[in-house]
Amino acid sequence: MFEELIRSWDGEFVVTHFDEESGAWMFICIHSTTRGPAGGGTRMRTYASPADGLEDAMRLAGAMTLKMAAVDIPCGGGKAVLAIPGPLDAATRRDLLLRYGELIDSLGGAYRTGPDVNTTIADMDVIGERTPHVFCRSTERGGSGDPGPYTARGVFHGIRASVRHVFGSDDLSGRSVLVQGVGDVGARLAEQLAESGARVLVADVDGQRARELADRIGGGVVDPERVTTHECDVYAPCALGGTLSAESIPGLRCRIAAGSANNQLSELDDAARLRDAGILYAPDFVINSGGVLHAWGKEMLAWSPEIVEERLAGIGDALTAIYERAEAEEITTAEAAERIAHSRLTA
Ligand code: NAD
Repeated sequence: MFEELIRSWDGEFVVTHFDEESGAWMFICIHSTTRGPAGGGTRMRTYASPADGLEDAMRLAGAMTLKMAAVDIPCGGGKAVLAIPGPLDAATRRDLLLRYGELIDSLGGAYRTGPDVNTTIADMDVIGERTPHVFCRSTERGGSGDPGPYTARGVFHGIRASVRHVFGSDDLSGRSVLVQGVGDVGARLAEQLAESGARVLVADVDGQRARELADRIGGGVVDPERVTTHECDVYAPCALGGTLSAESIPGLRCRIAAGSANNQLSELDDAARLRDAGILYAPDFVINSGGVLHAWGKEMLAWSPEIVEERLAGIGDALTAIYERAEAEEITTAEAAERIAHSRLTA
């Protein structure tokens, strides 16, 4: 089954390793090194089969190539999956991460990792005990720390650019923004929006978290079951992927969909469904790139805090260019983002 997947993949190479001690499979997928070393996080989860883990890593690695190119970071795309057989105790997890760090190190810098679903800054510190090719270690260990605040700032700039495109001004005062998921990214985004005068609505399956945040920033709470039918100017998905779909789009009552979640579209056709419904879609891999810009910029490219801030604001400019190209070429914003990324890859 691996053979078929690897043969049909359009990436450069795949490293697979079975970790006997933990029963986990390690998959490192290097999709492209055309623009520099392959960067992308490490996801840890249990899959129905190891092949599903490999397939996930391949798909995510391709998306990282696009993301790096779309926001013009001189890196290629890669992704790793640690497909674990089930929950691991702390010692087994740590030992797995140390061996995984050795595997990354053996690639000599062709792949550089960071956190992703179910891996943390503390995990990056452990990996960093075996290899320097890891981003987002804690600041105490010399890393750039939590990418969440920077992702949030990038989304904030992206929302402003989207509001400007739709309403002619990026003034957020009085604009309603519904933030779905107020975790690491969503909570900070909601705070920034509120500080800028937006009318902020929040929804989270953790109702208490949503209520406390809303009280603190003077916002409202929306039932998490009703997010995709609630009226607002901007819907900001910051929880799960796949919330924009053939089922949800007809019910949306917003003008803009712009948030941090990965894989917001259930399928590519949803980009056209959104356009046809008159909803401006900010391609997820562009608007949520602030964390990568900060970590890779600071740790690999030695960017100063000023350059990081400029590049975060540049996410808004990148989206504006995408919107203009989509209109000029009568394509969806998702297609426009991909075209811009591909033209950088072939330049
Ligand atoms: P997080 O786990 O800190 O927060 C997610 C929040 O969403 C939690 O509060 C959770 O209770 C809530 N949630 C889960 N299911 C929900 C639902 N059905 N309805 C409403 N709320 C729900 O995650 P995060 O780091 O804030 O990331 C949010 C999203 O952004 C994820 O999709 C992540 O992949 C993506 N992302 C994050 C970063 C980053 O730097 N953290 C970077 C790029 C993309």
